[in-house]
Amino acid sequence: SELPADSNPENYTRQVENACYSLATPITTKAPKLLHVNKDVANDLGFSKDDITSKEFENLITGNSIYTNTEPYAMCYGGHQFGNWAGQLGDGRAINLFQVKTDKSYTLQLKGAGKTPYSRTADGLAVLRSSIREYLCAEAMYHLGVPTTRSLSLALSGDEVLRDVLYNGNPAYEPGAIVCRIAESFIRFGNFQIFASRNDKTTLAALMNYTIRHHFPHLEENNKDDYAKLFQEIVNATLKMIVHWQRVGFVHGVMNTDNMSVLGLTIDYGPYGWLDNYDPDWTPNTTDRQNRRYRYGQQPNIGLWNLYQLANTFYTLTEDAAPLEKALNSYKTQFEEQNLAMMCAKIGIQTINKQDYILIQSLETNLKLIETDMTIFFRLLATANNIEDCIEAFYIPEQLTGEVLTEWQAWFDQYHTRLESEEISKNERIKKMNAVNPKYVLRNYMSQLAIEAAEKGDYNLINELYDLVQNPYEEQPKYQKWFAKRPDWAKSKVGCSM
Ligand code: AMP
Ligand code: MG
Ligand code: MG
Repeated sequence: SELPADSNPENYTRQVENACYSLATPITTKAPKLLHVNKDVANDLGFSKDDITSKEFENLITGNSIYTNTEPYAMCYGGHQFGNWAGQLGDGRAINLFQVKTDKSYTLQLKGAGKTPYSRTADGLAVLRSSIREYLCAEAMYHLGVPTTRSLSLALSGDEVLRDVLYNGNPAYEPGAIVCRIAESFIRFGNFQIFASRNDKTTLAALMNYTIRHHFPHLEENNKDDYAKLFQEIVNATLKMIVHWQRVGFVHGVMNTDNMSVLGLTIDYGPYGWLDNYDPDWTPNTTDRQNRRYRYGQQPNIGLWNLYQLANTFYTLTEDAAPLEKALNSYKTQFEEQNLAMMCAKIGIQTINKQDYILIQSLETNLKLIETDMTIFFRLLATANNIEDCIEAFYIPEQLTGEVLTEWQAWFDQYHTRLESEEISKNERIKKMNAVNPKYVLRNYMSQLAIEAAEKGDYNLINELYDLVQNPYEEQPKYQKWFAKRPDWAKSKVGCSM
């Protein structure tokens, strides 16, 4: 095949057969500069305070030096993108460095450190704006209690990256950046799928056994029944993650099967977004505006659709559909249960009864009557005596009148009647509600402000937002300004994916 012009001849683009990964060397960057390091994660991984301020660390997390006796690699995977099988994808701009064993075992992965055999026609690089979004959002999710990959570091590469050409034909270069992220595993649905698509049962079994050995050690390798049990565990983990997304108003935006972790971790922070006004039809992904496949309200269904694709892959080894179908069916029943429990928790109901879904359905209907900020509404609900106490949640408060007002008053009547049948004290209920309804989420416009400042060389807002998202459920008086509706200028702004 063709050899590339860059310094890493082993990284040339190709179809990789019969292998789960390929060795890949990060490129040398022009002027690496550490912008932010996650001290907690660094400490957990065993880096000392001196380590993280050293040139060596900066080189490590930008791929400019490789630890001795380690062999960086990129993984081979495929995936269904927007509903269609896309063939081999793979880590096109992600390179795994090594694992660190603490109480658990974490893989360090660089995103944006150059081409790999899976880069296809792209450059293997990442720009500062998308890297800031990934770095901050993964941490925001972690502290919200949502299973996710985590961020270790954010750095400039010192190189310029081309993403756009201006209307006048001039190239629009942007600062390149590298995020070092960690996870117990980066294995995706697509890592399994690629081998089934090639009818390569040997490599598929090898990967399944590896996954069992390292991440599901209570299961047995080379055992068809246990492969089916593994599938059930992936179903459970995926569902749990998505219920958390729905709780906090996170919209992933690209739920392709190559972006679904087998551990149920939120992975690949690209065109994601957060609901401001409650709108189940909203998608942050500009390339998905037509079909809205990945809209907020559709995420649970897409999770199931993706699991169906993975079930087909598992079937090539287990050759028994029944346990896989059972696992898929359990998704629906589990979702109904867990979603009801989650929504009940959001409105402070502790002892769930089946009838509560009616109350929740009418709440969801009401939230759509006029533009209503999801985060602010649920946060204010804890102490609200009536809908007027939630007035701050409405984008146009004057619209709370006439039928809209009547509907809300009726809902509050039912809601308060329902609360009266609860044993728990009011203070206790408020505390519990505040523990599941975040006060601060990383709204799209907030990241956008941090990006615009950073592109001018001012990184203070990255620091501030990083600090803010550490305690999303706490009152943080110094950050009260971030407990606010999306400003008007930000209304049409959407995420970015590259
Ligand atoms: P995503 O939509 O971000 O999940 O990416 C889909 C596929 O494209 C994955 O295989 C990525 O590794 C690859 N990819 C995305 N951006 C780049 C890039 N700049 N260079 C190389 N590969 C990329
Ligand atoms: Mg991806
Ligand atoms: Mg991506």
